[in-house]
Amino acid sequence: IKEDPSFWMDHNVQVLIRVRPLSGAEKSMFGYNRCLKQESAQCITWIGQPESRFTFDHIACETLDQETLFTAIGLPMVENCLSGYNSCIFAYGQTGSGKTYTMLGDVNNLGDKSNPDRGMTSRIFEFLFARIQAERESRRDERLVYNLKCSFSEIYNEQITDLLDPSSTNLLLREDTRTGIYVENLSEYEVQTVGDILKLLSQGSANRKVAATNMNRESSRSHSVFTCVIESRWENDRDSMPYLRFARLNLVDLAGSERQKTSGAEGDRLKEAANINKSLSTLGHVIMLLGDVVHAKTKHVPYRDSKLTFLLQDSLGGNSKTMIIANVSPSICCAAETLNTLKFAQRAK
Ligand code: ADP
Ligand code: MG
Repeated sequence: IKEDPSFWMDHNVQVLIRVRPLSGAEKSMFGYNRCLKQESAQCITWIGQPESRFTFDHIACETLDQETLFTAIGLPMVENCLSGYNSCIFAYGQTGSGKTYTMLGDVNNLGDKSNPDRGMTSRIFEFLFARIQAERESRRDERLVYNLKCSFSEIYNEQITDLLDPSSTNLLLREDTRTGIYVENLSEYEVQTVGDILKLLSQGSANRKVAATNMNRESSRSHSVFTCVIESRWENDRDSMPYLRFARLNLVDLAGSERQKTSGAEGDRLKEAANINKSLSTLGHVIMLLGDVVHAKTKHVPYRDSKLTFLLQDSLGGNSKTMIIANVSPSICCAAETLNTLKFAQRAK
């Protein structure tokens, strides 16, 4: 992995491949046979028929720890937000490839700073609050006010549910001419500390599991979107200037990318499979168009083809920063899905 935060200067869309270590089950059944060979910090080969070489902005190898990953890509993302850029981090990959590990780490232990498995999200908000504190102190007399508001939603089968109020389902997307796209009736909480945010995260994650169990489905079939709106202004300037800077940070744990089988499925199950495939392919398509600056300016970008891209419309494109973390297993047993993920990631960059 390259540690060079200036990479955001030239490209608004970055793609990182994260290879997780072989799991115990993979080792016991398939030994140490791998389908991947890393060539350099940016180049990786898929060993199969035919052998394929891919180049990405960053590759995080099997042994790369959570702290290093945060420093390389989470930290610059926080700086982007503090400079007023809307930002998105997506975790993409088949179920079991490490999406939730990357984003949250141990869901039951989000706040434990001594836990090396702690994911990107806790680290991002710890750093964000530390940066805000430092900025306040450096401008002690000027009364800089920060206002942070968070929401947590889930998109399953093209329906939006409030993970912080799970009785609130089937929420609608609306457009406000001034503030842009928003989810109607989605609860939003003002947060003052990292602890406040971690509480919302664990509450929402628990609700995500309960909702899945109640509906008899895997939580891997839904996308979760944690959004933090960061607003700053000078306290005595309330009227003349509503805010100094404003940015949205979206952390998205996507549905498993394994191709949902539509053959043999019927009714609701068929519709669900088709919706998952469609929302991930729309995301890929939108991001591909955004990577092509000329195209993004002149051509139609089909944000409205899926709830996910519609919801994130204001945080994708324009001056926004997008990081795709494509998670893969190196085991030979996952070769086909790993190749699919590399191809998706290739198109996105
Ligand atoms: P997903 O959310 O994509 O379905 P998980 O994040 O739940 O996958 O990961 C599956 C398992 O692999 C979990 O037990 C997780 O702790 C482990 N795991 C994933 N990535 C890593 C990694 N980089 N290092 C160590 N363990 C990992
Ligand atoms: Mg997961």
